[in-house]
Amino acid sequence: MTEEARKATDFGADVFGDEAVSTYLSKDTARKLQATIREGKPLDPSIAGEVAHGIRHWAMDRGATHYTHWFLPMTGSTAEKHDSFLEIKDGEPIMQFSGKNLIVGEPDASSFPSGGIRSTFEARGYTAWDPTSPAFIKRHSNGATLCIPTAFCAYTGESLDKKTPLLRSMQALDKSLKRLMKLFGREEAHTACTLGAEQEYFLVDREYWKRRPDLVLTGRTLFGAASAKGQQLEDHYFGTVPDRVLSFMNDVERELWKLGIPAKTRHNEVAPAQFELAPQFEELNLACDHNMLVMDTLRNVAEKYGMKCLLHEKPYAGVNGSGKHNNWSVAYGGRNLLDPGSNPDENALFLTMLCAVIEAVDKHADILRASVAGAGNDHRLGANEAPPAVISIYVGDQLAEVLDRLEKGGGAKSKGGGAMQIGVDTLPAIPKDATDRNRTSPFAFTGNKFEFRAPGSSVCCSGPMAVLNTIVAEAVDRIAGELEEAGVAGRAKPGEHTPAFHSALQKILQSSLKEHKRVVFNGNGYEAEWMEEAARRGLPNAPDTPSALEAFANPENAALFERYGVMTARELQSRHEILLEDYSKKIRIEGACARDIAAELVFPAVKAEFLETAQALAAAGSVEVSSGISALRADLVLLGKGMDALKENIDHLNDALSAGDTDVIVSETLSLRTTVDSLERLVSASRWPLPKYRDMLFLY
Ligand code: ADP
Ligand code: MG
Repeated sequence: MTEEARKATDFGADVFGDEAVSTYLSKDTARKLQATIREGKPLDPSIAGEVAHGIRHWAMDRGATHYTHWFLPMTGSTAEKHDSFLEIKDGEPIMQFSGKNLIVGEPDASSFPSGGIRSTFEARGYTAWDPTSPAFIKRHSNGATLCIPTAFCAYTGESLDKKTPLLRSMQALDKSLKRLMKLFGREEAHTACTLGAEQEYFLVDREYWKRRPDLVLTGRTLFGAASAKGQQLEDHYFGTVPDRVLSFMNDVERELWKLGIPAKTRHNEVAPAQFELAPQFEELNLACDHNMLVMDTLRNVAEKYGMKCLLHEKPYAGVNGSGKHNNWSVAYGGRNLLDPGSNPDENALFLTMLCAVIEAVDKHADILRASVAGAGNDHRLGANEAPPAVISIYVGDQLAEVLDRLEKGGGAKSKGGGAMQIGVDTLPAIPKDATDRNRTSPFAFTGNKFEFRAPGSSVCCSGPMAVLNTIVAEAVDRIAGELEEAGVAGRAKPGEHTPAFHSALQKILQSSLKEHKRVVFNGNGYEAEWMEEAARRGLPNAPDTPSALEAFANPENAALFERYGVMTARELQSRHEILLEDYSKKIRIEGACARDIAAELVFPAVKAEFLETAQALAAAGSVEVSSGISALRADLVLLGKGMDALKENIDHLNDALSAGDTDVIVSETLSLRTTVDSLERLVSASRWPLPKYRDMLFLY
């Protein structure tokens, strides 16, 4: 790091990174640890003691008194259980942190969701250090804690977290790529998946938030009539960031930089009070951990500015929701395999990867869709602001033409006429992000990476990324297998492949494309015609969480995860159960919260308005004025009808909550909302018990 960068950012000051490693560990130990980190090798147990000692000294020098194994349980958030370094030995206080403390922890796992994996008599869970994600320090107002990123598993060894399947999926993809790369004559190297996760969020003044039980309990507004001004003018997107928000963003970035998180871009988003933070991309596992810290930091720093950061996918009806675009790519030996390259050999590799991703996404669109399912995202996917629930791939017109030519090429007769020969023809320059249509696509190729736009703003990236790696690992593996069978690899060096290799590759890619090109769609994903066209093409469309999650119950999908060593059938089943349960709990909480707000806050307000109107009407009658009476009478009738409807809606929702069918709860919650939102305009603003959209969205 340059001195200038250090001064300006304090970048990585709270991370046990290269600099701290070389200061606090011996040369030999530092070298072994760095090899572990870079090559993803298991940690040499003989150095654990010294590493622990060094990390503790470093952490204490930076003000830490406690340590915790930091992990990603299946709740979708992060978990910590702090222990102090302080121990009493022979009556004397000492500071202690052993190699064992570093490598494993044994938190009681019984209160974490396990989807049936862990029975209560085997309550123990283990956390195991993941050295590929460096230790860091988390600060609070009067202290600091050393956090050790870990994987979390049950006593039986089954994974109870979101990190383990991700690490396993990276290994699976590495194995498949090694097989393919050997055929391409590349030297054996290390696979590095990369992720740049763009994070969208809303900010709201804490005073409004406090008066909104729906926001407090569910993270989204269950009621609220549209504001006269919403996002129609599109004047918020990339607009000037208000000072209070800019100060908040600055603070967030400083915190993130200290944690070694390269926060890079900040701007207003489309909806009012909506913003985005994008870090520079990083190695996938680290980027997933970092995104969890980004969400934490956004929430914490907002408090300092008297605001709340809303990470829910749909905090407000009628304006855009928030997503988390996962920009994903894969590099081998440091070269991005999704970079089209500049010569026929690099192009061949690129086209192979491109076809592998197309094949993977088409074959397993259902699991990819399931990986982003959740109660919050149901409001977003398919609501004409975010990509539809149908998974398709955008490649852009230029690449679409290339794929077309690739499909035509291959034989002697295909020469010319727009056909393309792998190993002979060079790709035209592929523009990055040439059109805007990719914004409507759930899975868009954007020059040298894919951007998976379906994940919701609150999702833990590990889930969708583990699925993506696994399905691509399978496609790469299949293509490599066919190349092996064709017996054409020989001892090819880069750029020296035989025509036989190229024509075998072309045949393989052609048949893959024929089968899977239906998933490629370069048009506008928001148009209704696309939904019809997608149905004709036979692409799956799971509009809500329960239907999307069925993919996890499919034995073929279970076999896939098992074959690539990412999840056992039981691990997958446990995730299915947890996600379904999470969905139904959230729906019930929303239903109960809506019922309570309607009964305890809205109904009394309407009643009071009714009473006041009735009194005014009576008073007007007694003074025998002729004007005003019809207006008051009309209002009184509307308020009375509204109260009746409100009462009926509340009763129905209550019945639905007792019966427990989530579909019915969802629709009754929505009917209640319609009634409440229409009453909002009949009741005086000074009496309305909930802060209004126009306040929350524009005054923060
Ligand atoms: P936008 O989608 O807003 O046009 P950018 O093109 O700037 O944004 O990139 C969005 C994100 O993609 C950033 O986080 C960036 O670091 C990341 N990104 C760029 N190249 C790669 C790559 N090879 N692998 C993964 N992410 C990448
Ligand atoms: Mg983007």
